[in-house]
Amino acid sequence: MIKSIPYEDVLQTILCKYDEPMPGAVVSAYLVDGLLIDTGPAYTAEALADFMTDKKLTCVVNTHHHEDHIAANKFLQDRFGVEIFAPALAVSKINQTPELYPYQEEVWGYPVPSIVMPLRKSISTEKYHFDVIPTPGHDRDHICLFDAKNGRLFSGDLFLGIKPVASRPMEDNWQTLEDLKRIRDLNPKTIYSASGLVVSDPKPRIDKVISALEEIGNIVNKLHGQGLTPLQIMEKIFGKEAPIAERTQAQFSSENMVKCFLKRV
Ligand SMILES: [Zn+2]
Repeated sequence: MIKSIPYEDVLQTILCKYDEPMPGAVVSAYLVDGLLIDTGPAYTAEALADFMTDKKLTCVVNTHHHEDHIAANKFLQDRFGVEIFAPALAVSKINQTPELYPYQEEVWGYPVPSIVMPLRKSISTEKYHFDVIPTPGHDRDHICLFDAKNGRLFSGDLFLGIKPVASRPMEDNWQTLEDLKRIRDLNPKTIYSASGLVVSDPKPRIDKVISALEEIGNIVNKLHGQGLTPLQIMEKIFGKEAPIAERTQAQFSSENMVKCFLKRV
C-alpha cells in the first residue's frame, strides 16, 4: 500500500508491503519541492514510481543504505532519469545486492542495485536548501537532512522511540546519543522520521529519548564494570529478551542493545 499525507508542502508517503500499515513493516519517504527523501522497500518500489508520475520529481536522496530506504532507486532512475544521492559510505553498498535476514526478505524484499552519487555537505532544490547532518549512530553512513530556514529535519532512522528496548549489531548507542543531542541543538520546528512519526516542536520528545537511552547506557557501563556479561546485563535491565528478537532472528535484540553500548569500552 501507498498512502500519502501532506504537511504543508512536504508530502509524506507511507509505504508498506501489506494492505494495511503494519507496525515494523512501514517506512515513510518524503517529497519536498521535487526532492524525494528515501525510496522505501522493494515490495512497493514500482508502486512508488507510479505514484511519482505527476509529482515533478527532480532528485532523490537516500539517508543510508538499508534495504527499506533505497529499493525504488532503480525504478525512479529508469522512469524519470533523476539523479540519486546517498552518503559516500553508502554508495558501494547500494550498488550491490545486500545480504538480508529472512525477516528482512519477508518484510522489505531485496532491493535492485542502483548507481548513486555521493552526497556533499548540502543539497538544494529550487526553493530550499538542505544541510547534510552526519548521524552515524544508526549505521555508519546515516545522515539527516536539515532545512534550517524552515526548521525542517528529515531524520531517517535516527532513533525517536521513547522506550528503547532493542538494537541491531551495527548501531552505536553512545553515538546515537550524540546524534540526538546534535539534532536537538539544531532547534528543528518539525521532524519527519522514516518510521512515519512527524513531530512538531520536537525538543521535549528528543530530550525524553536522550534521558531514556542515557539511563540505560549508564546502567550498562556500571554493570559491565562489575564484570557482568552482556547477557547478564540485559537480564538485569530488561528481565528477558524483547519479543522482537524472535521475529528478527535475534538481529534486533535487547542483548544487542547492551553490546551496542559497550562498543567503545
Ligand atoms: Zn536503517
